[in-house]
Amino acid sequence: MTGQTDTGCVVESYGRRVVVARSESGSVACKLKRRDLDLVAGDEVRIAVSAGDDEWTVIERLPRKNVFCRSDSRGRSESLAANLDQLGVVIAPRPACDPFIVDRYLAGAEQAGIAALLICNKQDLPADSDDLSFLEPLRAIGLPVVAVSARTGTGLDELVARLSGRRSLLAGQSGVGKSSLLNALAGEAVRATGHLSTGSGEGRHTTVSSAILKTPWGEIADSPGVRDYTPPLAPSREVQRGYPEIAALASGCRFPDCLHLREPQCAVRTAVDSAAIDARRYESYRRLLNLNRQLEDRRGWGA
Ligand code: GDP
Ligand code: ZN
Repeated sequence: MTGQTDTGCVVESYGRRVVVARSESGSVACKLKRRDLDLVAGDEVRIAVSAGDDEWTVIERLPRKNVFCRSDSRGRSESLAANLDQLGVVIAPRPACDPFIVDRYLAGAEQAGIAALLICNKQDLPADSDDLSFLEPLRAIGLPVVAVSARTGTGLDELVARLSGRRSLLAGQSGVGKSSLLNALAGEAVRATGHLSTGSGEGRHTTVSSAILKTPWGEIADSPGVRDYTPPLAPSREVQRGYPEIAALASGCRFPDCLHLREPQCAVRTAVDSAAIDARRYESYRRLLNLNRQLEDRRGWGA
């Protein structure tokens, strides 16, 4: 007797078990053929079930368009969600926004080749205009910004238009209103939970590591891993890729491997001095470069 195979998309990942939405219809809980498959929500996979077996197995992961990763505190890269169309970074007046964290999200998206969108939630609360001055340089590099309130509904139409027909990962500090936005946007759409608690004995007490919520207008990826964020390690030279306005000037530096720190005839530092590059963004680049080096040391060579 032969089995059956199919392809589908991982809509929930629990590490060693996943829920796959099959290409035709319906979703199934699957075990993994190998532990090292590294599956996250959004991954396209091939699954199989042998005749007489009642459980599907993920045989292979199909090639990814992209994957959004973070670095853990030891410098190891961890995948959060795959095949994304955009990263939505959510901020709010409370808890106060740390622009350096926003920059790190944007740098991670840039590194992964994923478009980004800034979602300023809680518009119903008063905001200090000084606190918002960091937005201008981000708008200048082409980052779309939408102002919304999950509480009053302000701006939600525009947000839906931005999310429509796309798969977006929502990221941001705890308390900025990601869940409230999801509830306000998705209404009665319910995440396909519960598959893993049927039969497998696992699931009910297993925390989801990433999931995809399908709505009539688009897909939202969600991962608890996105509350604080450090982009994956990169060679020092490549850290500037996360800062397009800096990378764009690098060809004007005297040294082709200029890191824009203390090198002579650096076009980037000249631009910072003349305020053509925002000083805070430049400082943010230097911080990320330092962080990247610290993590590199912690991970050690060859790890
Ligand atoms: P998450 O941790 O990012 O998922 O944030 P939550 O969705 O749990 O929201 C955190 C808190 O902010 C809750 O008390 C929400 O009621 C509140 N909140 C969410 N959106 C808004 C908003 O648009 N305006 C106001 N004033 N409060 C909001
Ligand atoms: Zn330079």
